[in-house]
Amino acid sequence: MALALARKYRPKTFADVAVQSHVAATLKGAIARNRVAHGYLLCGPRGVGKTTLARVLAMALNCERRGDPELGGEPCGQCASCTRIWSGSSSLDVVEIDAASNRGVDDARELRERAMYAPSGDDGYKVYIVDEAHMLTREAWNVLLKILEEPPPRVVFVFATTEPQKIAQAAAPVLSRLQRFDFKRIGPADIRQRLERVLADEGVTAHPDALAMIARAADGSMRDALSLTDQVLSMGDGNVAPEQVRDALGLVPEDEFIGLLDILAERRAGDVFAFVGKLADAGIDFGQFLTGFADIVRAQLAVTLGGTSTDTSERVHEALVARKETFLAGDLLRMLSALTELEPRFRKSGQQQLLLEALLVRFALLDRTVSLEAMLRGMSGGGGSTEIDDEPAARRAAPPPMRAVEEKPVAPPRASDAPITDWRAIVRDADRSPPAKAPAAAPAPVAPPRAAPAAAAAPTSPAVPDVSHISERWDDVVARVRAMGKSVAATALEYAAPVAVTAKGDVTIALDEASPIYEQALEKEKGGIGQLLREFFPGVQRVTVRAATPSGAPPARLTDEMVRAERLTAMRRRDPVLDRAIDTLDLDLAD
Ligand SMILES: [Zn+2]
Repeated sequence: MALALARKYRPKTFADVAVQSHVAATLKGAIARNRVAHGYLLCGPRGVGKTTLARVLAMALNCERRGDPELGGEPCGQCASCTRIWSGSSSLDVVEIDAASNRGVDDARELRERAMYAPSGDDGYKVYIVDEAHMLTREAWNVLLKILEEPPPRVVFVFATTEPQKIAQAAAPVLSRLQRFDFKRIGPADIRQRLERVLADEGVTAHPDALAMIARAADGSMRDALSLTDQVLSMGDGNVAPEQVRDALGLVPEDEFIGLLDILAERRAGDVFAFVGKLADAGIDFGQFLTGFADIVRAQLAVTLGGTSTDTSERVHEALVARKETFLAGDLLRMLSALTELEPRFRKSGQQQLLLEALLVRFALLDRTVSLEAMLRGMSGGGGSTEIDDEPAARRAAPPPMRAVEEKPVAPPRASDAPITDWRAIVRDADRSPPAKAPAAAPAPVAPPRAAPAAAAAPTSPAVPDVSHISERWDDVVARVRAMGKSVAATALEYAAPVAVTAKGDVTIALDEASPIYEQALEKEKGGIGQLLREFFPGVQRVTVRAATPSGAPPARLTDEMVRAERLTAMRRRDPVLDRAIDTLDLDLAD
């Protein structure tokens, strides 16, 4: 490809200028009606077509077929004048000035002298295109103001700028003599469309994912999108594939994002440092990484909520669907808001690696709030033992949820506990398995210590669990009841929660909703439920069922939360290292 794409596919008509149709239509109409202004100010971000449009304007003004009603103000794009201006080869009628390099007053004086010359043709126009106009000095503007106050006939000034407010400060009187147009940023979809057309013309095969990546990286600039495409084409075998785009743009491989999701899901906070170090070694831009990761988290959230992820490749989409149950929507939402909060500060920071590491460690621990509770249960509850206190917090992390589910569809009481997400999956699995088979898979009920009431005062009596221990195993209890074929009681239990345990071990279960059917089911089965609870917590004695009060009473869940918060506070007191870590990382445990 001899000619760069941006140059080769530079628009030849107003209609070709992507997205800026509001500007193009106005200019085209002005030419058709012969009402061209002496000065225009084109404002907008870089790469959106400002100078391109100025050139089309110059072509239209000098086109040999100007006035042809068939063209309606468009340049023909074919005549000698159009071709000359379009190709940028020396044209006496179009003068392009880069204000960034021509900003002195001498240049402006020269400009004035040159502006006085009549255009070369009899009815041609002389068009000055001043790019980066905000770089012009005050003196230069003064000269220009004089020209614009008494404009020579058939001379048009077009100023292009990314920063109109600077011109407003330096040359307000000039501004009032210019007709201003604001250009829109070009969205990824428009860029993708344009790239598709250009590459089809070039006979190049392009993968849609690859084009989406280029469009995102171009960040609103069509010119950048086309140069990036050039870059990809010059590196590869003439096709545009995702891998080549990633290499050319120094983008983060998608697998890295998925790998990071797994690190966070499995609460491997310690692995964050090696992960970020690897990115640094690969020379990956942390800002770009952060943006890319935010996109992935957003896509995961969409998938978790049952939607589809847009703007991700097919492969990533599949990976996200496979991880649908790994994160709770609330956790993803919290991650997403932390990411977007950090982003503006991050770009300016000189400590990007540190910020990134701290954020990711925080995410890894954030997700662990759930298993911290599991750890607490171990510290003071039923199966609790003292050695847990000596174990570092990191080693107490629960196993990865998905593996745990595969191995044990119906969970018997376990020494280590998976996070809550896990239990939900277990409940679902239990629902799916045939009721007749499930009880066989469950462990035979352990004979409860029947003599317990009599021996209540004896030192060997089993520990009495507290409410939070029971509520954390609640989903297991529900699953077991369902597996026994007691589906009404199981559903009733889903709408209920343990709310109180006496010192003796009597458990009160309260229904969240007033329902006579559920009340009856629980009353009928409370003996069996008590027996089941004893499998988990040998200290449990009798079960009492409390009907829901129609109004006023605080919901059972709230009590549960309060107990949990209290336990976490107690835990922080016991573990100064964890306490400091939580404070440093501003981890919201009570959340
Ligand atoms: Zn022409």
